[in-house]
Amino acid sequence: MRERLRTDVAIVGGGIAACAAAVELRKAGLGVIILEKGRCGSGASGVNFGGVRQQGRDLRELPLSARARPLWDGLNALLGEDVEFEATGHLKLARSEQDMAELEAYRVAALGCGLDLTMLGANAVRAELPWLGDKVVGASLSPTDGQANPRVVGPAFARLAAKLGVDIREFTPVLSASRSDTGFSIESETLSVSSRFLINTAGAGGGLLASIFGEPVPITPQSPNMLVTEPLPYFISRSIGVCGGDVYIRQVRRGNAIFGGGSGWHDPELGFSRPSNEQSLGGMRRTLQLVPQLTNAQVIRTWSGTDGRMPDNIPVIGPSSTTPNLFHAFGFSGHGFQLSPAIGLILAELVTRGETPSPIDPFSIKRFANWQGSTTGISDHTDH
Ligand SMILES: Cc1cc2nc3c(=O)[nH]c(=O)nc-3n(C[C@H](O)[C@H](O)[C@H](O)COP(=O)(O)OP(=O)(O)OC[C@H]3O[C@@H](n4cnc5c(N)ncnc54)[C@H](O)[C@@H]3O)c2cc1C
Repeated sequence: MRERLRTDVAIVGGGIAACAAAVELRKAGLGVIILEKGRCGSGASGVNFGGVRQQGRDLRELPLSARARPLWDGLNALLGEDVEFEATGHLKLARSEQDMAELEAYRVAALGCGLDLTMLGANAVRAELPWLGDKVVGASLSPTDGQANPRVVGPAFARLAAKLGVDIREFTPVLSASRSDTGFSIESETLSVSSRFLINTAGAGGGLLASIFGEPVPITPQSPNMLVTEPLPYFISRSIGVCGGDVYIRQVRRGNAIFGGGSGWHDPELGFSRPSNEQSLGGMRRTLQLVPQLTNAQVIRTWSGTDGRMPDNIPVIGPSSTTPNLFHAFGFSGHGFQLSPAIGLILAELVTRGETPSPIDPFSIKRFANWQGSTTGISDHTDH
């Protein structure tokens, strides 16, 4: 027997942005159903590095990132759970004078977008973090950036959404969707959902859903390679990245150092990703150059996950160009965790008011309107 449901808003994909949107839409009095093929928060939202970073973003993302930043301060209160957000600051390290010039150029450009970064020379950065390796010649600091536990944030948002009355259907892959004069029909193996609005937050699967509505996009899987050590005495007091993005490191208060760099691999047939031994060894080598103190640390786990990557490294956010009442937010290209709470607000604004104060034009799906063909391969760099 097929179950038939009717709602105001159907959401495909249950990542953080989706659950955050669902919370806002319920608060606005709308009926909401989330259809998630696994568990809410089990996609990229739940397995990422945990970097809550504005520094280093594409300048077009900075207004969204600035909108997200204060929301992180309020997440524990909103969700009633500790998501381990800490504004440790984000330090982007330079390993050459060319890197320093790149950081300075970004600092000037970001200041024009309201992000205030501080340049630190070799002495200043070592005065703060005396354990840094010889390769570091300076850094740029974003003091208000930080880190959080991705394993907690998504499920906590889903629990709040459920508490507010959102109908969450996990282990429910959406197989097809269509729109008629009366609204959307969304089908899974066991369920038929009719809705007035449809939100596409299907992450790496967002391109498939968009193509059903005549909007194919050149999305590819992106699977950053991640590692974590045994618990160690706490000393890495900042979240750390580098110019070029080939390594990034943070340490949680429990002592585990988490680091990443390079790409794992994504198997589209199986629908999951794996870390790569070779990339893990490369990531360890680069980490030890920056943090020699980790030399004897035991790596206890490696993993990866899959985000959708767009060729211009910025996501698709906003109304469909073919289908009224369809809204997209996918393809976050390896850096959507920090943005997610704001993306939830933006999606809810688009549904309830048809507009948002956030500048989302650069993220329109229309930019791929003339795209034909297919892009393959997994990107090499993720800058966390
Ligand atoms: C290893 C890794 C490290 C990262 N590190 C950082 C970081 O430090 N900082 C940062 O800002 N960002 C980081 N990111 C990126 C960030 O995690 C993502 O950009 C963000 O979580 C994307 O959220 P999403 O909701 O679009 O996708 P997801 O969280 O993947 O959610 C999409 C959901 O849609 C579901 N779905 C797909 N197709 C269907 C279907 N047909 N039917 C039903 N459900 C479907 C999936 O199961 C999934 O749960 C990282 C990503 C990875 C993979």
